Amino acid sequence: VDLAKLIRERIRDVDDYPKPGVVFKDITPLLADHVAFAGVVDAIVNHHGRGTIDKIVGIEARGFILAAPVAYHFGAGFVPVRKKGKLPSRTDAETYDLEYGTETIEIHLDALDSGDRVLIVDDVLATGGTARAAADLVRRSGAEVAGLSVLLELSFLHGRDKLRNMDVHSLVTV
Ligand code: IMP
Repeated sequence: VDLAKLIRERIRDVDDYPKPGVVFKDITPLLADHVAFAGVVDAIVNHHGRGTIDKIVGIEARGFILAAPVAYHFGAGFVPVRKKGKLPSRTDAETYDLEYGTETIEIHLDALDSGDRVLIVDDVLATGGTARAAADLVRRSGAEVAGLSVLLELSFLHGRDKLRNMDVHSLVTV
């Protein structure tokens, strides 16, 4: 199968979600298709060599869905980055700008070891603010960002420009 074609067919555009004028890329049809889901996980794993990654950082919430099977296949640990207030133990936090307002994400202070090689995984790269904030959290933990893997990159939002010092790997770009 042509994976890129399959991914495109399984991502649905939802108009005016979460607010008027926004076209939301909905990956739930892709997740429900076992061939597409497995293909995506395998493609992310294959982009990096086995044994080169210590931890997979998944970004709440759809990032978790992709990051967990990637971590399993790598033989790497899984570490969640969550919206403020969701992680139970001591955290480091990073606040970044959204189109309107700000967002804060957190990581457990003891989740990464210094020197860990970390792959960050999310579903969609849009403006890049979330990925950059996650990378800042990883680096402040003393770990190294080996790369960012996303299912879908919205290139017209130029998220890559915020992530210049990183291997940004997207399976499909629109
Ligand atoms: P960014 O910070 O602008 O790059 O936004 C990326 C974050 O918002 C990711 O965690 C995505 O899950 C989410 N996101 C932004 N746009 C979409 C979309 O169209 N579909 C699904 N998730 C999106």
